[in-house]
Amino acid sequence: MATKRDYYEVLGVSKNASNDEIKSAYRKLAKKYHPDLNKEPGAEEKFKEVQEAYEVLSDAQKKAQYDQFGHAAFEQGAGGFGGFSGGFGGFQDVDLGDLFGSFFGGGRRSQRRNGPTRGRDRSDTISIKFMEAINGKTIDLQITYDEPCTKCGGTGANSSSDIETCSRCNGTGTVKQRQQTIFGTMETSTTCPECHGTGKIIKNKCTACDGKGYNRVRKNVEVNIPAGINDGQQIRVSGKGERGSNGGPNGDLFIEVRVERDPRFERDGNDIHSQLEVPMVAAALGCVVDVETVYGPVEMTIKEGTQNGQTFKLKGKGVKDLRGNGQGDHYVHIKVLTPTKLTNEEKALLEQFNELEQKKPNRGESFFEKIKRTFKK
Ligand SMILES: [Zn+2]
Ligand SMILES: [Zn+2]
Repeated sequence: MATKRDYYEVLGVSKNASNDEIKSAYRKLAKKYHPDLNKEPGAEEKFKEVQEAYEVLSDAQKKAQYDQFGHAAFEQGAGGFGGFSGGFGGFQDVDLGDLFGSFFGGGRRSQRRNGPTRGRDRSDTISIKFMEAINGKTIDLQITYDEPCTKCGGTGANSSSDIETCSRCNGTGTVKQRQQTIFGTMETSTTCPECHGTGKIIKNKCTACDGKGYNRVRKNVEVNIPAGINDGQQIRVSGKGERGSNGGPNGDLFIEVRVERDPRFERDGNDIHSQLEVPMVAAALGCVVDVETVYGPVEMTIKEGTQNGQTFKLKGKGVKDLRGNGQGDHYVHIKVLTPTKLTNEEKALLEQFNELEQKKPNRGESFFEKIKRTFKK
């Protein structure tokens, strides 16, 4: 299989592009390469590529999978998440009505659909504290969404005998229209104005939802944020996305978790890094200190002769893996503090220390002599 181009590159947008930017880039490119409009060799290939990139990047769930796993997310039979729905089967997958809406003055997407269709996914963002990401948290989220009506099962009818097939479209939900356009005559299907694309006429409406098949609700939903979640990861709340049509299920709600920073810790995957300041004398002589970890203070031995920049590992004191694959480590980076504002007595002691250093056999030049030499150059 040839190497696939990065989807963001295909659409010419950055990884942080908004939905609108992605949509706008897609429209421009789809128009440019659409095989009905562009007969140049290679245009069709380009068009397919653009369509495929858009199918992924315009869908919150697929985009998240792509961002995390790249093209591997969609490779069949390789532990991916299943392939594309449409491929290049036909141009009806492209939202022509939407694309050329300005020319044709209308024609919306739902042309060929009158079966149950799942609603779109939605996305939202929440912010949690650094330690909440480490320990996990349950959040009560108020979510407004369309809940399928339980009384009529989403049909909108008072009883099953109140549902009739639409006579205008024979239950297909669409009617065909011929239109003269700047590209010639085009036959377009539009949503049946009688049944609004459902293919059904309801005689007596369900009283619980007033015939809509759903009710707008605002509910508290408990969202469990698992321990170990990292900044930018998403949590799926099933069935709280946009409503489906014709009895189709709701889409899902994807909540992107933003993790606030903590001045004490730096996180890298499941490992934690922190800095520990150690006075020069303590570093030289060695000592035992309490080190702050994400699980509270831990006793750590600073070895005699510890150098500035040296790292100590606290095994297993990192973040618990989100998927239960063990636990990270905590790395303590030592910063040796050189004393300042020395008193005369301290200075005298350090000079005495230096003299002793110089007298050591096979020592070579002292630190201070080295400095002197360097500055004389
Ligand atoms: Zn109809
Ligand atoms: Zn109902």
